[in-house]
Parts: sequence; structure tokens; C-alpha cells
Amino acid sequence: MSAILKKQVSRLGNQAINFLLPPLCPATGEPVDSLGMIDSSYWQNLNFIHAPYCNRCGTPYPFATDDLQCGACIDHPPIFDKARAALIYDDGCRNLILRFKHGDQTHAVKSFVPWLRLSGAEMLESTDIILPVPLHPLRLIKRRFNQAELIARELSRYYPDADYYPDGLKRIKATSSQGHKNAKERNKNVSKAFAANPHYIYERKKVLLIDDVFTTGATLNECAKTLYSAGASEVNCLTVAKAIKN
Ligand SMILES: [Zn+2]
Repeated sequence: MSAILKKQVSRLGNQAINFLLPPLCPATGEPVDSLGMIDSSYWQNLNFIHAPYCNRCGTPYPFATDDLQCGACIDHPPIFDKARAALIYDDGCRNLILRFKHGDQTHAVKSFVPWLRLSGAEMLESTDIILPVPLHPLRLIKRRFNQAELIARELSRYYPDADYYPDGLKRIKATSSQGHKNAKERNKNVSKAFAANPHYIYERKKVLLIDDVFTTGATLNECAKTLYSAGASEVNCLTVAKAIKN
């Protein structure tokens, strides 16, 4: 079958699938034109992060300033080099993220990736390795998929010059949920929780860590510490959303 004919058959197949099973918005469940598209009524809920923001952790500043780093990064410098996120993690996007993570709305990844490509453009251009924050195998069995891995895999397709290591980091300690813990407890909970996969070489490599939400940065910091110990020269973080302290 010629390539053109294959394309036409594939397009007709997609049209038939869309007719029988119309794509639904991953946030509202309303019908949309294509898979991964966000319902227009939901857009107003999304608060995208834009400049000015802290050059280190990516927290948006409430006003224009020449400060390169926020007070939190000056007081407690993160272990990772830089972090960027597409959205502020608030009531507006919570439903979208939770339905992606726990409600099998995995096609939301199609929406996330273009946002991540914009928010992380600078770090994506120069990264050598893309990898997801791992789940512990027991948590993986319960949840059936690692949400960070879905995002990282889809994103990596656009950066063929970077290596994608889905198992680049292993979670070697079954940590309890970070949910109701304060910053100190979160750090302790994830301490020594990760190991770099010895099958890969991290020496002098720029690594980009992918996760769905940046909460306090404890998990990302611990992953970064592990990767620096394995020889990485730079570890950056890119997440769909970031929690912002008031
Ligand atoms: Zn900061």
C-alpha cells in the first residue's frame, strides 16, 4: 500500500472512531474536536505561569522585579539547577490533573506536552537525557501507570537528540504519601528513596526530570541529588503544574 493511501485509510479510520467514540475533554468530560483537546469552557480555569518568575524554581513574581531568585531559593537553595512549570497548581487545574492521574484520563498528556514545550523550551533545547520521576513498583501495581512516565515519553518524541530513559531512576524505598506532610517530613520521607540505573551513563550529562506536579520540591530535589551523585553536570525539572505558597 502506498504511503499516501495508508495516510488516507488512517484518516478515514480516525474519522470513523471519532464518529463512534467522540473524543472527550479530559477535565470536563464534554465532547471536543480532537483527542486531548481542552473544552473551551474550562480554559478560563487554567492559570498559566509567565514571566516574571524566579529563575531558579520558576515561581511567578506578583510584580515586575530584577531579582533573579525568590526569597525561598535564597534561603534554601534547591539541589536541582532550575525548575519550570506550565500551570499554577490551584483549584482551576486540580480537576484536570487529578482526572489524568487517578481517573484514567491519560489522553490529557496530549494537552500537557505543547504547554511543557513552551515552559521548558530553554532547558529542552540543551538536555541530553529526559527521564520521569519513578513510582515505587508497589505503587505502580496499584495505579497501573506512572503519570510522570506518560508525560516524559510523549514529550521525548519531540526531542530525538535527547536520550529517553523511562527507568533512568529507580525508587528503592516505598515512601508513604507526601500529602499531609510538612517540608521537613517530606524531605525525610524521600531521603535515599532513589537510585540511578547503573545501565546508563550520567557523567557530565544534562538531565531533565519530568513530573506532573511540583509541590514542595522534596521529591525532585532528592532525585537531583541522586543524579548529581551519578555524575550529572546539570539537573533541571519540568512539571505540568506548580504549587505556589501564598
Ligand atoms: Zn525560587
